[in-house]
Amino acid sequence: MSKRDYYEVLGISKSASQEEIKKAYRKMAIKYHPDKNPGDKEAEENFKEAAEAYEVLSDENKRARYDQYGHAGTGGAGGFGGAGFGGGMNMEDIFSQFGDIFGGHFGGGGFGGGQARTQQVRGSNLRVRLKLNLEEMVNGTQKTIKVKKMKLAPGATSKTCPACNGTGVQMKVMNTMFGQMQTQQTCATCQGIGKVADKIPAGANAQGLIKEDEEVTINIPAGARDGIQLNVRGKGNDAPFGGMPGDLLVVVEEEEDKNIKREGDNLHQELYISFAEAALGTQKEIPTVGGKVKIKVDAGTQSGKILRLAGKGLPSIDSYSNGDMFVHINVWTPQNLTKEQRDFFESQMNNGEMVAEPSGKEKTFFDKVRDLFN
Ligand SMILES: [Zn+2]
Repeated sequence: MSKRDYYEVLGISKSASQEEIKKAYRKMAIKYHPDKNPGDKEAEENFKEAAEAYEVLSDENKRARYDQYGHAGTGGAGGFGGAGFGGGMNMEDIFSQFGDIFGGHFGGGGFGGGQARTQQVRGSNLRVRLKLNLEEMVNGTQKTIKVKKMKLAPGATSKTCPACNGTGVQMKVMNTMFGQMQTQQTCATCQGIGKVADKIPAGANAQGLIKEDEEVTINIPAGARDGIQLNVRGKGNDAPFGGMPGDLLVVVEEEEDKNIKREGDNLHQELYISFAEAALGTQKEIPTVGGKVKIKVDAGTQSGKILRLAGKGLPSIDSYSNGDMFVHINVWTPQNLTKEQRDFFESQMNNGEMVAEPSGKEKTFFDKVRDLFN
């Protein structure tokens, strides 16, 4: 059977505006509506044809493609395919389309037909915060946490919803712009599930759910970051009677480290060395997220020097590179000198030794800041 031109179907010109397309479709929909033409196969075909024409012409992209390729553009690969057309729309699609044309009168259950249409009701999602330290975030870890969730109470039983006989929908007669029409609405008693609670154990709510603690083990992948959300499927609240449980959403929070501060992918830490270590040079072991590493402090190191350990920061999220670790060196000036130490320093001072003598090549504070960004 050859398909009629969509413009012809709606009785409009090729240059019709969106407003004209909508108006024309409204007219057709009212004329051929199944509730107005019970058992009339031809009217039903006309109704579907008009819906399909509207589906294409009301969408600027699809319309442009149709204008260029005709019906050839509406089927198969590279055609319109997909969302229920080309192969013909079903009544559900058509009725769900009505919402935007007729202003939401028909939202929800659609109408006509009267076929059972129970809904799978999902339990609600639960959200928890999980504190992780830098090392756990970088390397990944496994945590077992306790969550309070709604669970179907032991002993709770269900029965077929008496209001809708288990269909999940109720028929309503509505006065609409088409005249009187029967519409289908989600059953208010069972919210479309088709079942209601029968026996409810003490402590459970009207849906047979009870609040309980449950232990959930969560695998945190390496490279987690502050603020990311992990989705643990099916570990949220149970749904009443047979629906799917919701998900557990785990929001990762960074636990402040007492030694290491994070700045993007880079890490910073302070290292205090003694006056003698600064003068003579030394080796120090410092913590990083990959474990402890040894660093060398040169003889004559000045307070405020920053050592950069390339690649010892966090793995960056969008590339394979790592940030760096910056070690800020502080020379600790001795505060409680012994008699010998005091004598030693006094003699040095009196002899004019150990005076500050910058060569002019020392890096200023501003040089150091600039270096950090290079
Ligand atoms: Zn019901």
